[in-house]
Amino acid sequence: MTSTETETPRRTTRTRRPGAKILPEHARAHNRALVLQSLFHGGARSRADLARETGLTRVTISDLVAELIADGFVAEQGTREAAGPGKPAILIDLARDGHRIVGLDLSGSDSFVGAVLTLDGEIVARHEAPVPHERAAILPAVIALARALVDDARAPVLGVGVGTPGVVDDAGVVLAAPGLGWDGLDLAGILGAELEVPVLVANDANAAVLAEHTFGGAGDDIILVKVGRGVGAGLLTGGEPLRGARSAAGEIGHVTVGTDGGPDCACGKIGCLEAWISVPSLSARIDAGSDAARDRLLRDAGERLGIALAPIVGALDLSEVVLSGPAELLDGTLADAAAETVRTRTLATFHDELQVRMTAQGQDIVLRGAAVMVLSGRLGVS
Ligand SMILES: [Zn+2]
Repeated sequence: MTSTETETPRRTTRTRRPGAKILPEHARAHNRALVLQSLFHGGARSRADLARETGLTRVTISDLVAELIADGFVAEQGTREAAGPGKPAILIDLARDGHRIVGLDLSGSDSFVGAVLTLDGEIVARHEAPVPHERAAILPAVIALARALVDDARAPVLGVGVGTPGVVDDAGVVLAAPGLGWDGLDLAGILGAELEVPVLVANDANAAVLAEHTFGGAGDDIILVKVGRGVGAGLLTGGEPLRGARSAAGEIGHVTVGTDGGPDCACGKIGCLEAWISVPSLSARIDAGSDAARDRLLRDAGERLGIALAPIVGALDLSEVVLSGPAELLDGTLADAAAETVRTRTLATFHDELQVRMTAQGQDIVLRGAAVMVLSGRLGVS
């Protein structure tokens, strides 16, 4: 199924993430990233504005802008009325139609979804494909979907970003995704060779937290909990993704919650967070009960989530917990109970103001996060 629509995401003003120490040979790429970052978050502005904001000289800015225009990443956009005497300033902006980004979200249980996005994260085309029942047909279906999106891009593709369930390493190798039958699959390598464009792959919740940070106004120290068929989380500390020793940071679904037993989990343990609050598990218990039981079950699920999150919030000094998943389950009672539980289980001085809120990114959060992976990996924009 293919459809086309346009949406305008809201971007937040943010300075560039502080990076590692810059070596002289990297200075030009760093300076290009500063200019693009300024345009990405601030919109059209003059060369003088760019010089002021980036701290670079007017001459350096003119050189960089000329190079970025030649590469098709920025364009001149007319003039702004001069406030005083003198020539009106020529405005520079991202060349939104100069390149496209392809994003894939493989986290759905029934269908894989993909989108073509502009450089500023606006979705201009969508495709989707049913998830094959045969394990062997899954990778070919992903390749075909990605190829259809690249063919539909109608501009050079800066890169393909993929959010997939499972544990994914820095190189885009899916170390384990039991739901898709993948074990040590070099997804980035395979797609890159098939499509001949750069490909970046990350866990779906890790992609989602990037979207929340870049487009959703989230702070630099947050956890995003994605509740669907399973439960996973993406973490940012100091604005940077937290990966962990085995690329599995945020895998909170199979942490057992409480000492009072609980539902059986697919992993063989009992009382895992996923067994308590995954959409299939929680929905089944709610459907089996009365209306009064619904409120109690949602409150209990929120408390379980809060019990799992409190030590994470405390240890990492997080400022925000963002939930992504069905609002009819997560928003309200469950989120409030989770927030209350985290607050009562952490140091009041620091976490009294802790927010647990729904993402405003909706169903497109992984697609937008996949675009951020490409922007960040290819242009240094985040
Ligand atoms: Zn489990």
